[in-house]
Amino acid sequence: MNKVFNFYPGPATLPQPVLETARTELLNYRDSGMSVMEMSHRSKPIENVIASAEANLKELLKIPEGYRVLFLQGGATSQFFMIPFNFLTKDQTANYVLTGSFAEKAYKEALKTGSAHTAASTKEEKFRSIPKLEDISVSDNAAYLHLTSNNTIYGTQWQQFPQLSIPVVADMSSDILSRPFDVSNFDLIYAGAQKNLGPAGVTVVIISEKLINISAQAKLPDMLKYSVHAEKDSMFNTPPTFPVYIVNLVLEWIKENGGLEKMAARNQEKADMVYQVIDQNPDFYQGHAISDRSLMNISFRLPNEDLEKEFVHSAEKVGLVGLKGHRSVGGIRASIYNAMPVEGCAALAAFMLAFRKTH
Ligand code: PMP
Repeated sequence: MNKVFNFYPGPATLPQPVLETARTELLNYRDSGMSVMEMSHRSKPIENVIASAEANLKELLKIPEGYRVLFLQGGATSQFFMIPFNFLTKDQTANYVLTGSFAEKAYKEALKTGSAHTAASTKEEKFRSIPKLEDISVSDNAAYLHLTSNNTIYGTQWQQFPQLSIPVVADMSSDILSRPFDVSNFDLIYAGAQKNLGPAGVTVVIISEKLINISAQAKLPDMLKYSVHAEKDSMFNTPPTFPVYIVNLVLEWIKENGGLEKMAARNQEKADMVYQVIDQNPDFYQGHAISDRSLMNISFRLPNEDLEKEFVHSAEKVGLVGLKGHRSVGGIRASIYNAMPVEGCAALAAFMLAFRKTH
C-alpha cells in the first residue's frame, strides 16, 4: 500500500497497529461471529468495550475519584452550548479565555444562554500566544472559567493551567493524551475524538461529580443533561459504539507505548524537528505562534502565497499530505498528533530544508 504521512488537523492520522487490529476484527469480533458495528449497545462485548475505554482513560490520565467519564455525540461543538445550558444560572457570569476561534465559538454560545465575560484574550495579536496566568481576570459571580488547552488553528498551547476556586472547564480536543497534566485542576474536560483519540463521532467528557447535578436550566431536554448521561452510564441513547471501540484500541496503543510521559517526550522530539527548521530559516519560514508553541499543530507562513501553494503541492507529491493551513491564518499547518510517527516529522523537516534551498 502507498501509505503517506497524514498531517490533517482532524480527522487525523491513527496508529497503524490500531487500524490493523480493527481490520482483523472487522468481520468477526473476537469469535462472536459478527462485527462490532453490528452488535447491540446492550450486549456484553460492547458493555465491555465501553467499560474498558473508561478504565483505560482513568488509568492514563490518572483521573482521581469523584469524576465520571462520558461518551457523548454532537462533537466538541455541542459542548459549547451544553456547558452554559447546564452550569450557567441567571445571576451568574460565564468566563472565557479567548485564545482562538474555537474558544470564541464557545463564548458566543454562552452569550446566547446568559451573561458571559472575557477573562483574557489574545485576539488583538491574532492569537499568537496564550495569556499569562496573572492576566486572567475572573468576573464576580463566575459560574466557571472556560479555556482551550490547544489552539488547533493558531498552533498555541497552554503550558500551565490556572488553579482556581471556581470550576475550570477545558476544551482539550486537540491535545488530550499528548502529555500528563493534573485532572484535579479541572471540573470538566471535553474532547472531540478525531485528533488524538480516534475517529470522528464520539466526544469524551470527564466531569467532576460536583458539577454533574447542577441544573441551571429547568427545562433542558434529557439528551443535553450531563446528569442523565452519567446516570445511564453513557447509554441514555445508543452511543457511538464503533468510534468508542476504536478509541479503546488507541488508549491501549498509548499504554503499550509507555503512556503519557512517553507520548509527551516523543511529541517534543517530533515538534522540535520542525520548529528547528523554522527557527533556523527566519527569512523563509515564519511561525504563527510567538510563544506557547503547540506540540500538536505547527502553523507557519512562507514569503508569499504562490510559494505556499507550491509547498503544499510538492509536499503532496512526496507523500506529505494535509499541510494546507486554515483559511484564517493561511500558509501551512502541520498537525502532528500522538499517532504521527517520528519519521513523518523527520520527512517534513527534510522536505522543508530542501524546499528552502531550491526556492
Ligand atoms: N475545539 C477545538 C480545539 C477543535 O480543534 C475543534 C475541531 N477542529 C472543535 C472544538 C470542534 O470540534 P467538532 O468538530 O468535533 O465539533
